Amino acid sequence: MIKKKKGNHRFYRSVDIAVSIAVGLVLSILVAYIWQLYSKDIREARSNKMEVTGQFISDQFQHVIEDNTQLLNNLKQRIEVTDGDYLKYWKFDAQLMISQNPSFQLVEWIDSNMVIRDVEPVEGNEAVIDLDISNIPYRRDAWIKSSLDSSINVTKWANLTQGGNSFLVDAPVYYDGTFQGTITAGMVFNNHFDAVMAGREEYSLVLYDDKGTLFYSVGDTNLFPQAENFIFESKVPVKLGADQLWTLKLKPTKSFFGFNTWFESNLGFILGLIIALMMGITLFLLLQSSREKRRVSHINRELKKLNSALSKEKHRAEEASVAKSEFLSNMSHEIRTPLNAILGFIDILNRKKLEDESMKYLRMMTFSSKNLLALVNDVLEIDRIESGKVELLARDFNPLEEVRLLLDLYEQSFEEKGLNLTLETKVEQGKVALGDSLKFNQVLTNLLRNSFKFTQIGGVKLKYTEEVVGGNLNIKIVLEDTGIGIPAANLDKIFDRFSQVETGYTRKYEGTGLGLAITKKLIDAMGGSISVSSIENQGTEFSVTFVFPLGDSDFGQGAEKEEEAASYLGKEILIAEDNPMNVLVLSKLLEQFGVMADVASDGLEALQKLETKSYDLIFMDLHMPEMDGLEATRKIRDKGLNLPIVALSANITKKSREESKSSGMQDYITKPFTREVILRILSKYLS
Ligand code: ADP
Repeated sequence: MIKKKKGNHRFYRSVDIAVSIAVGLVLSILVAYIWQLYSKDIREARSNKMEVTGQFISDQFQHVIEDNTQLLNNLKQRIEVTDGDYLKYWKFDAQLMISQNPSFQLVEWIDSNMVIRDVEPVEGNEAVIDLDISNIPYRRDAWIKSSLDSSINVTKWANLTQGGNSFLVDAPVYYDGTFQGTITAGMVFNNHFDAVMAGREEYSLVLYDDKGTLFYSVGDTNLFPQAENFIFESKVPVKLGADQLWTLKLKPTKSFFGFNTWFESNLGFILGLIIALMMGITLFLLLQSSREKRRVSHINRELKKLNSALSKEKHRAEEASVAKSEFLSNMSHEIRTPLNAILGFIDILNRKKLEDESMKYLRMMTFSSKNLLALVNDVLEIDRIESGKVELLARDFNPLEEVRLLLDLYEQSFEEKGLNLTLETKVEQGKVALGDSLKFNQVLTNLLRNSFKFTQIGGVKLKYTEEVVGGNLNIKIVLEDTGIGIPAANLDKIFDRFSQVETGYTRKYEGTGLGLAITKKLIDAMGGSISVSSIENQGTEFSVTFVFPLGDSDFGQGAEKEEEAASYLGKEILIAEDNPMNVLVLSKLLEQFGVMADVASDGLEALQKLETKSYDLIFMDLHMPEMDGLEATRKIRDKGLNLPIVALSANITKKSREESKSSGMQDYITKPFTREVILRILSKYLS
């Protein structure tokens, strides 16, 4: 059996979740670790880059300062080596320096008394001519110091008297053994620095003088958050005798990092984490699906077991059902033979003059036996239908004519019971259909008999409609009665076997409860339909439809006319039958038609009788000891005798009929037979 392991299922689910989370976590840690290693490498590479670039820029700046101060130094030396003669030309040199070198703003001659004697260009600098710089504290001390030790002095980033800013670079001039003054230049290195920084958008730079005053900056100096750790700082020595140190700070800009936000910089890490997470989830789904797969295949295995157990059970049940049906069928079959005898005797007794009391008992016997026969026949019939043994005939017949004949047959009974029986048709002349008229009749008879049985006042109306649709004849028959009706609760059960509204020992209406079951099965077999509606104590309406192919001839149902026992006196008939009861019944019946029959108790004896006497007709039982009816018939035909032979059998199957026919028999009657049947046979073969 398949058990629901809900608790287990939950436990395994939790295990799957735990395993998946653990794997996801381990992967995340791995990602974090790798990311950290990678970030460290990147950081180091960036630091190196900053270091190298910073150092390079610092060196470049230093060269700029050196190259420029060297130019000034050259002028000073030219004055010194010419013992002051070149002083005549210093302004000319100064002009050249200013025009050729954008770092030079101005050049001036300050004499040994610290008075600015001349300046190039004069224009714009008039204010400083004859200016005594000994009054300017930051100028005086450094100037004196440099003039004493002959070093080049570079001031801080100075506010000039004539306006603007620049570094003032003093080059002391000595000749004739004494200090003569200084060639002083106002210098701004921005142009050169700009040239060094050109194309370096990845960096910003600030430059402070010795006193910490910012005098040059380039690029976006707002510090980018990540930049903090990468600032390169160096001291740029201002050489050629000057002992100043400028401070250079190189900072990375956004473009140095190549990204804008924290998210962008950590995108790799974030992606790694997402992948780890997804792998965790995927693992969970995989675990779940493989567990589900195992579970389903387990269920499938169990189902297969169950199925095979079920099919074994089904097989057993089918076998049991077959056995039951066979038993029922055999029983019914066996019952029919003695019943035949009983009915035969009843028939004979009926024709005798009996006292009233006996007649009453006889009537009751007739009633009960007929009921029993009906039941046995119904059981056999339903068994035949259910086991698919019913074969539908396909003969031309006139359905409306069948309906009329049926109503004619019942007319008298209805009259006697004080009931109406009416027919309403929607066709003038009924068409011919191709189908099984016997089954069609059986269906209508069942329904009409029920209506008759369950109606006490009023009557029954049969509405017949037919319509040709394509090559078919569509028939609808509605049977309305004003009888006791069927309770709504029973309506859907009445087509079941042995189902009757009225049950128990006090039943008013006789019946087997098989009629409608047979009716429905027959209709189904013919491809028709049946429905019922009913109101208790008011009446019932059965509605039946059939679709038959159209027949092609007007077929008159020649009903066998019952010829009264005119006289078959003198006719020679042989009864070949081993059952003495049946023999008695049949011979008594024949007596009534004036025939004294001979009897043979088996096939062999029948053959012997034929040796000595010629007969007009033989009733031949099929099952007999020594030699059965089929073989006996074959032997008779072999002898070239053509007399009519009629089979007697309790077997109603088609197979049995065919066997009889092929053995050479002309006709076939089933036990129990009625007087009418025997009469029909006599009139058919002896008239
Ligand atoms: P039965 O042999 O008892 O008539 P059926 O199978 O023919 O068996 O009918 C089953 C039951 O359906 C009947 O016993 C009866 O209760 C109910 N029934 C059938 N036809 C009618 C009818 N026309 N009016 C009332 N009840 C009916």
